[in-house]
Amino acid sequence: MIYPVYIYGHPVLRRKSEDISSDYEDLDDFIKSMFETMYRANGVGLAAPQVGRNIRLFVIDASTGADEDPSLEGFKKVFINAKIHSRDGELVPMNEGCLSIPGIWEDVNRESRVHISYYDENWDFHDEVLEGLPARIIQHEYDHLDGILFTDKISPIRRRMVKGKLSGLSKGKLDVDYKTVTVR
Ligand code: ZN
Repeated sequence: MIYPVYIYGHPVLRRKSEDISSDYEDLDDFIKSMFETMYRANGVGLAAPQVGRNIRLFVIDASTGADEDPSLEGFKKVFINAKIHSRDGELVPMNEGCLSIPGIWEDVNRESRVHISYYDENWDFHDEVLEGLPARIIQHEYDHLDGILFTDKISPIRRRMVKGKLSGLSKGKLDVDYKTVTVR
Protein backbone atom coordinates (compact mmCIF):
# COMPACT_ATOMS: atom_id res chain seq x y z
CA MET A 1 0.00 0.00 0.00
CA ILE A 2 1.26 3.43 -0.88
CA TYR A 3 0.80 6.01 1.85
CA PRO A 4 0.43 9.74 1.35
CA VAL A 5 3.50 11.72 2.44
CA TYR A 6 3.02 14.35 5.15
CA ILE A 7 4.29 17.73 4.09
CA TYR A 8 6.18 20.49 5.90
CA GLY A 9 3.95 22.33 8.34
CA HIS A 10 2.16 19.22 9.58
CA PRO A 11 2.68 18.77 13.33
CA VAL A 12 3.35 15.02 12.99
CA LEU A 13 6.73 15.92 11.48
CA ARG A 14 7.66 17.90 14.59
CA ARG A 15 6.78 15.37 17.30
CA LYS A 16 9.33 13.14 18.98
CA SER A 17 8.67 9.54 17.97
CA GLU A 18 8.46 6.54 20.29
CA ASP A 19 10.18 3.14 20.26
CA ILE A 20 8.02 0.18 19.27
CA SER A 21 7.89 -3.40 20.55
CA SER A 22 8.27 -6.52 18.45
CA ASP A 23 4.52 -7.21 18.63
CA TYR A 24 3.71 -3.91 16.89
CA GLU A 25 0.64 -4.59 14.80
CA ASP A 26 1.12 -5.38 11.11
CA LEU A 27 4.78 -4.41 11.22
CA ASP A 28 5.72 -6.46 8.14
CA ASP A 29 2.99 -4.82 6.08
CA PHE A 30 3.94 -1.40 7.37
CA ILE A 31 7.60 -1.87 6.38
CA LYS A 32 6.60 -3.14 2.95
CA SER A 33 4.36 -0.11 2.49
CA MET A 34 7.12 2.24 3.63
CA PHE A 35 9.37 0.93 0.85
CA GLU A 36 6.55 1.13 -1.73
CA THR A 37 5.79 4.70 -0.70
CA MET A 38 9.45 5.67 -0.87
CA TYR A 39 9.97 4.11 -4.31
CA ARG A 40 6.80 5.71 -5.66
CA ALA A 41 8.11 9.13 -4.65
CA ASN A 42 11.65 8.38 -5.89
CA GLY A 43 13.16 8.78 -2.42
CA VAL A 44 16.18 7.00 -0.97
CA GLY A 45 14.93 7.18 2.62
CA LEU A 46 11.63 7.50 4.46
CA ALA A 47 10.88 7.87 8.15
CA ALA A 48 7.61 6.77 9.78
CA PRO A 49 6.57 10.33 10.81
CA GLN A 50 6.55 11.19 7.10
CA VAL A 51 3.61 8.83 6.69
CA GLY A 52 1.93 10.10 9.82
CA ARG A 53 3.20 7.66 12.46
CA ASN A 54 5.33 8.84 15.34
CA ILE A 55 7.27 5.61 15.76
CA ARG A 56 11.04 5.18 15.64
CA LEU A 57 11.33 3.40 12.32
CA PHE A 58 12.86 4.40 9.02
CA VAL A 59 13.79 2.66 5.79
CA ILE A 60 16.59 3.38 3.36
CA ASP A 61 17.36 2.06 -0.10
CA ALA A 62 20.19 3.96 -1.71
CA SER A 63 21.61 0.90 -3.45
CA THR A 64 20.93 2.29 -6.93
CA GLY A 65 23.53 5.00 -6.23
CA ALA A 66 26.30 2.39 -5.99
CA ASP A 67 27.50 3.15 -9.54
CA GLU A 68 28.55 6.60 -8.40
CA ASP A 69 29.43 5.81 -4.80
CA PRO A 70 30.60 2.26 -3.95
CA SER A 71 29.74 2.81 -0.27
CA LEU A 72 26.06 2.54 -1.30
CA GLU A 73 26.45 -1.02 -2.62
CA GLY A 74 23.53 -3.01 -1.19
CA PHE A 75 22.60 -0.18 1.15
CA LYS A 76 18.99 -1.18 1.73
CA LYS A 77 18.00 -1.41 5.36
CA VAL A 78 15.23 -1.12 7.90
CA PHE A 79 16.07 0.72 11.13
CA ILE A 80 13.86 0.07 14.16
CA ASN A 81 14.38 1.78 17.54
CA ALA A 82 17.69 3.14 16.27
CA LYS A 83 20.04 5.00 18.58
CA ILE A 84 22.86 7.15 17.33
CA HIS A 85 25.63 6.90 19.93
CA SER A 86 28.02 9.34 18.30
CA ARG A 87 28.45 11.51 15.25
CA ASP A 88 32.04 12.43 14.43
CA GLY A 89 34.61 12.67 11.69
CA GLU A 90 34.61 15.70 9.42
CA LEU A 91 31.75 18.16 9.02
CA VAL A 92 30.83 17.88 5.33
CA PRO A 93 28.37 20.04 3.36
CA MET A 94 26.09 18.35 0.84
CA ASN A 95 22.91 19.22 -0.99
CA GLU A 96 19.86 17.53 0.53
CA GLY A 97 16.19 17.29 -0.23
CA CYS A 98 13.25 15.64 1.53
CA LEU A 99 10.00 14.08 0.33
CA SER A 100 8.20 16.13 3.01
CA ILE A 101 9.79 19.36 1.74
CA PRO A 102 9.38 19.12 -2.03
CA GLY A 103 10.99 21.77 -4.24
CA ILE A 104 13.74 22.71 -1.80
CA TRP A 105 17.32 21.48 -1.97
CA GLU A 106 19.93 23.04 0.26
CA ASP A 107 23.43 22.35 1.57
CA VAL A 108 23.50 20.76 5.00
CA ASN A 109 26.61 20.21 7.12
CA ARG A 110 26.75 16.78 8.67
CA GLU A 111 29.35 14.67 10.41
CA SER A 112 30.93 12.09 8.12
CA ARG A 113 30.68 9.18 10.57
CA VAL A 114 27.95 7.74 12.82
CA HIS A 115 27.89 5.01 15.39
CA ILE A 116 24.37 3.57 15.41
CA SER A 117 22.58 0.60 16.92
CA TYR A 118 19.18 -0.62 15.74
CA TYR A 119 16.94 -3.61 15.12
CA ASP A 120 16.20 -4.76 11.60
CA GLU A 121 12.91 -6.10 10.23
CA ASN A 122 13.69 -9.53 11.78
CA TRP A 123 14.43 -7.95 15.16
CA ASP A 124 18.09 -8.80 14.83
CA PHE A 125 20.22 -6.26 16.68
CA HIS A 126 22.99 -4.36 14.88
CA ASP A 127 25.71 -2.10 16.17
CA GLU A 128 27.56 -0.37 13.33
CA VAL A 129 29.82 2.50 12.42
CA LEU A 130 29.01 3.98 9.01
CA GLU A 131 30.75 6.66 7.00
CA GLY A 132 30.14 8.82 3.96
CA LEU A 133 26.81 8.88 2.18
CA PRO A 134 25.25 6.09 4.28
CA ALA A 135 26.10 8.11 7.41
CA ARG A 136 24.49 11.20 5.88
CA ILE A 137 21.26 9.47 4.85
CA ILE A 138 20.98 7.83 8.27
CA GLN A 139 21.35 11.18 10.04
CA HIS A 140 18.69 12.80 7.84
CA GLU A 141 16.18 10.01 8.51
CA TYR A 142 17.06 9.71 12.20
CA ASP A 143 16.49 13.44 12.65
CA HIS A 144 12.89 12.91 11.49
CA LEU A 145 12.33 10.71 14.57
CA ASP A 146 13.23 13.67 16.75
CA GLY A 147 11.09 16.13 14.81
CA ILE A 148 14.11 17.72 13.11
CA LEU A 149 14.02 18.63 9.41
CA PHE A 150 16.99 19.40 7.18
CA THR A 151 15.83 22.98 6.70
CA ASP A 152 16.43 23.48 10.45
CA LYS A 153 20.11 22.90 9.74
CA ILE A 154 20.77 25.21 6.81
CA SER A 155 22.52 28.55 7.19
CA PRO A 156 20.48 31.52 8.47
CA ILE A 157 20.87 33.27 5.12
CA ARG A 158 19.60 30.29 3.16
CA ARG A 159 16.78 29.83 5.66
CA ARG A 160 15.63 33.36 4.93
CA MET A 161 15.80 32.59 1.21
CA VAL A 162 13.52 29.53 1.49
CA LYS A 163 11.16 31.00 4.09
CA GLY A 164 8.52 31.88 1.49
CA LYS A 165 8.63 28.43 -0.08
CA LEU A 166 8.36 26.75 3.32
CA SER A 167 5.38 28.82 4.30
CA GLY A 168 3.83 27.99 0.92
CA LEU A 169 4.27 24.26 1.63
CA SER A 170 2.61 24.64 5.02
CA LYS A 171 -0.33 26.24 3.22
CA GLY A 172 -0.63 23.37 0.78
CA LYS A 173 1.13 25.04 -2.13
CA LEU A 174 3.10 22.27 -3.82
CA ASP A 175 3.38 20.39 -7.05
CA VAL A 176 4.40 16.75 -6.77
CA ASP A 177 3.28 13.55 -8.45
CA TYR A 178 2.84 11.54 -5.25
CA LYS A 179 0.00 11.68 -2.73
CA THR A 180 0.45 14.08 0.15
CA VAL A 181 -1.15 15.32 3.36
CA THR A 182 -0.90 19.03 4.03
CA VAL A 183 -2.21 21.08 6.93
CA ARG A 184 -4.48 23.05 4.67
ZN1 ZN B 1 13.38 13.81 4.99
